Amino acid sequence: MLETVLEVIAEVKDRIRHADRISLFLDFDGTLVPIEADPQSPRLDPATMDTLQTLSNQESLLTTIISGRAIEDLYARIRLKGLIYAGNHGREIFGRNLRFVEPAAFARQKQLELLCDEIRTKLRPVDGVLVEFKGLTASVHYRRATKSCRAEIEAAVRAAVACSGGGLHMNPGRKVFEIVPGTGWHKGEAVRWINNRLGEHHTLTIYLGDDISDEYAFSLLQDAITIKVGSTRVTCAKYRLPDPPAVHEFLLWLAIQKTLRQSRA
Ligand SMILES: [Mg+2]
Repeated sequence: MLETVLEVIAEVKDRIRHADRISLFLDFDGTLVPIEADPQSPRLDPATMDTLQTLSNQESLLTTIISGRAIEDLYARIRLKGLIYAGNHGREIFGRNLRFVEPAAFARQKQLELLCDEIRTKLRPVDGVLVEFKGLTASVHYRRATKSCRAEIEAAVRAAVACSGGGLHMNPGRKVFEIVPGTGWHKGEAVRWINNRLGEHHTLTIYLGDDISDEYAFSLLQDAITIKVGSTRVTCAKYRLPDPPAVHEFLLWLAIQKTLRQSRA
């Protein structure tokens, strides 16, 4: 069952108010912005941008935007200093003096690019499919394809990945099939890497995400406040919020909490 913002706040407020430091992770599509038919369209609205700016200025709170988008694409949609950006499902990370590219994924770039060419050729006759090579991972978007084509698209992607010589996997997402290097790295590992690098072992981690790829983080981060965005029934997250406007309300509340704490200190 979905919870309201007030219900989630009532559950988590004590832990947040008593935390000395918070490491906040926010997925982008479906969490900060609504999912749109064209994956190039989503932009942050000015109010959410203001709230992220407020969060990014707080010393006791570190914010990471974590997404399946390539890191340049992700940064171009936000462009705020003081944040950490984790693209390609956490396989590339930069910001706050961090810089990381997962080596095993980097080694498979060429193989992945060739696979994308092959899938593009196979699916050319199907309307509404977009094959996006993102360097370290790839996305086959079908938000604009008819429902009846979904099985055909999935079969084509599965077959191409199966014949690719190994090392690449296909994961279903929201109106997208993700092709990722099978290196065991995922968003949860990226969260651990960032927190360890910054010496944030004793911080409270908060993670909000809407997609299947966020479940890796939800299941790994047992002590964190994990919030699933959207109406999908099955999740490893502890709490739920319905949509990006509810996420924004929660972030506004969070920004005020930490600001009050700083002004009292
Ligand atoms: Mg998402």
